[in-house]
Amino acid sequence: MNLKKLISIMAILITIILFNTGCSSPEILGGNHELDDSNDKNLMVHFLDVGQADSILIQLPNGSTALIDGGNRADSQLVVDYIKRLKIQKIDYLIATHPHEDHIGGLPDVIKSFDILNVYMPKKSATTKIFEELVTEIKHKGIKATEGKGGIDILNEDGIKFSIIAPNSSDYIETNDYSIVTKLQYKDTSFIFTGDAEKPSEDEMIKKGYNLSANVLKVGHHGGRTSTSEVFLDEVNPKYAVISVEKGNDYGHPHKETIERLEKKGINILRTDEMGTIVLVSDGTNTSIKGIDSTKISKEEDTKENMIKYIGNKNTKVYHSTDCNSLPNKENQVIFESTEDAEEEGYKPHSTCINK
Ligand SMILES: [Zn+2]
Ligand SMILES: [Zn+2]
Repeated sequence: MNLKKLISIMAILITIILFNTGCSSPEILGGNHELDDSNDKNLMVHFLDVGQADSILIQLPNGSTALIDGGNRADSQLVVDYIKRLKIQKIDYLIATHPHEDHIGGLPDVIKSFDILNVYMPKKSATTKIFEELVTEIKHKGIKATEGKGGIDILNEDGIKFSIIAPNSSDYIETNDYSIVTKLQYKDTSFIFTGDAEKPSEDEMIKKGYNLSANVLKVGHHGGRTSTSEVFLDEVNPKYAVISVEKGNDYGHPHKETIERLEKKGINILRTDEMGTIVLVSDGTNTSIKGIDSTKISKEEDTKENMIKYIGNKNTKVYHSTDCNSLPNKENQVIFESTEDAEEEGYKPHSTCINK
């Protein structure tokens, strides 16, 4: 088998693993898998691959569900199907971060398809058709949307704290800064979801004195350079930074300045354009990537996962561990099952991630 073929097979395999992860979650949460009982107390966060857009599905350990944004209108079916596959029928907390189409586009169909208990929106309207549709669907369901603003607790029980930390003003120049930013804390682990909030909103969150420290940061505005400022990153200090972005998008997202700021701090960057849908799981103590480096995966996935041990860079002939911060772009990756395999092919170990 030639190398190119092998890489494409591995890419498909990764996709299958991620996809299956999503599908099998209810079982895992139900605890009737080959997993230990503690799994029914897991928090699952799905960053859906909706291209140049955002959609994040959260399965809380108390059994409730939250959805932050719904992708573009063209993603409607994908988002609805994804939620249905997890056998979810109701969404307890629906958050429309701000009225841009890449965030609310899929929501009218989501509202039509599921029971919706609470809706949070910022006090910012738009004159677009999609925004009008969203408002209409919310009305149809007889729901009264709550204005999302800094200081509101969406949920605070059973070791789960889900709170809104932005917007903190009522007037912004950019619609993006109206984004509802949430912090989700489950015992010792925490996530921050920023929507498209940019530096003015980030500065306000710092000034307000919120505890911004989190294990996972959903990077603001698809990795645009006017979000994820250095001071904000200092406050959040995450282990993982998730970027929801489409390959070859018109905006040049993620901007290289943002990537550099993240890399400089040694943060693991997870991108939907490279990984597809990303599922993170927290047991309240640790946060890990499901299907890639999680220790809590089923045996079948484990076998596939074990095949991906090291990633080589075709150009530099250097190989890395899968969680290295300086992995090559997908098109330049070669997968190795062992360091021996890598070295047989003439690859050298990356000094910072391979301990020899
Ligand atoms: Zn936006
Ligand atoms: Zn956006």
